[in-house]
Amino acid sequence: MKAHDGMYIGGEWRAAAGTDLIAVVDPADEQVIAHVPAGTAEDVDAAVSAAREALPAWAATLPAERAAKIAALRDVLVARKDEIAETVTAELGAPLPFSQAVHAGVPILVAGSYAELAASYAFEEKVGNSTVYAEPVGVVGAITPWNYPLHQIVAKVAPALAAGCTVVLKPAEDTPLTAQLFAEAVHEAGIPAGVFNLVTGLGPVAGQALAEHGGVDLVSFTGSTAVGKQIGATAGAAVKRVALELGGKSANVILPSADLAKAVGVGIANVMGNSGQTCSAWTRMLVHTSQYDEAVALAAEAAAKYGDRIGPLVNAKQHARVRGYIEKGVAEGARLVAGGPEAPREQGYFVSPTVFADVTPEMTIAQEEIFGPVVSIIRYEDEDDALRIANGTVYGLAGAVWAGDDAEAVAFARRMDTGQVDINGGRFNPLAPFGGYKQSGVGRELGSHGLAEYLQTKSLQF
Ligand code: NAP
Ligand code: MG
Repeated sequence: MKAHDGMYIGGEWRAAAGTDLIAVVDPADEQVIAHVPAGTAEDVDAAVSAAREALPAWAATLPAERAAKIAALRDVLVARKDEIAETVTAELGAPLPFSQAVHAGVPILVAGSYAELAASYAFEEKVGNSTVYAEPVGVVGAITPWNYPLHQIVAKVAPALAAGCTVVLKPAEDTPLTAQLFAEAVHEAGIPAGVFNLVTGLGPVAGQALAEHGGVDLVSFTGSTAVGKQIGATAGAAVKRVALELGGKSANVILPSADLAKAVGVGIANVMGNSGQTCSAWTRMLVHTSQYDEAVALAAEAAAKYGDRIGPLVNAKQHARVRGYIEKGVAEGARLVAGGPEAPREQGYFVSPTVFADVTPEMTIAQEEIFGPVVSIIRYEDEDDALRIANGTVYGLAGAVWAGDDAEAVAFARRMDTGQVDINGGRFNPLAPFGGYKQSGVGRELGSHGLAEYLQTKSLQF
């Protein structure tokens, strides 16, 4: 697609208030592929005004009308899925098959799920002598990261629209082209002017202006815990609703009765899939001491096989950060069994699939979110030890448990302080609530729980 040189506000592409530009870089070859405008507080203000103006009419539409518009949006995403995949590959660097299956495929599923939910959700309910109405919260400020550029947008915008809210989106500076493509899709789908608005720009400028704007009723943010804390504090001071999807350091717990080879293989693929840039990735592999050496050998082999199929990291900063973590792992005494800090190619922000053995739970690489293709294998002595390690970080976003049967895995999973657990390799479910315990966040996305985030109740008594 060709980059737009303006903002999508009030149903049209408008010139930006300022003249600053953001250069979009292909992380596979470090070449600038496009420029988009860097929005200012003035652009954000115009977008929030448009969203406020559009709110009363959109909030008053029948759920079936909103469902039809979201279904139309889903259909445009289907029609343009190759272009979506190519755009994500160009600006994020994900290998094209992964972009097609996941970066383009998942948002289509999620948009489809909200077309159905908008039509079927109980926006009105009788409770004793009351009628309780679920009404839209109002204008939503959505701030999204680059790691799943379209999914993160759709996971906020689709439920917001289903609820009857209007939206201003500030996407990540690294992946604005996908966001512009989404705005085109909204337009093509015939969603009324002002219901969705896009301001590209930098986080501390456009993002902060959006989070602080008095005309925004709810801020939905996905990204780093550091920025999430700031946004939560800003929203708290203004008594504004906030949803935060933050980082993770999820555990892949392999119990002794599990199919070890499968658990290790799926565990490695889970991390390498998006070059480790997945907030819910199982970056800590927990293995019983009796199976430890075998698991390490299997993991090293699986990572080495991944080799050339891995994409680059998103930018030079993340590249340096991830390599820094790998160096830190070595310095703290962990044993490299695959990959390492050396850049495997001269050009592009690549890091080799990396596996550390002999990682102890307190090491930096076992505590902090690396956001790169790095797995730490940690030894446990018994189930209580495994649970202590699994729960022993500030995060609680996701995880996996493998055991000889589902019941044994479920019993362990129920004791984990985390929002999502895959049992014996369970499949992704776009209707299941996604979100964090502890510092992994506040609120839930996807399915009816994700829709409820954008609603507030009004009770009438009779
Ligand atoms: P980030 O800075 O938190 O970015 C997320 C979004 O927030 C982007 O749109 C960003 O804009 C915006 N933002 C940044 N500062 C802001 C501010 N002061 N006020 C309002 N919005 C602001 O994350 P990042 O720098 O891209 O990545 C850093 C680390 O965050 C990663 O290494 C990873 O650990 C974590 N992360 C987690 C997730 C997740 O899904 N949970 C996703 C991405 C990153 P800009 O793009 O202009 O910075
Ligand atoms: Mg940033």
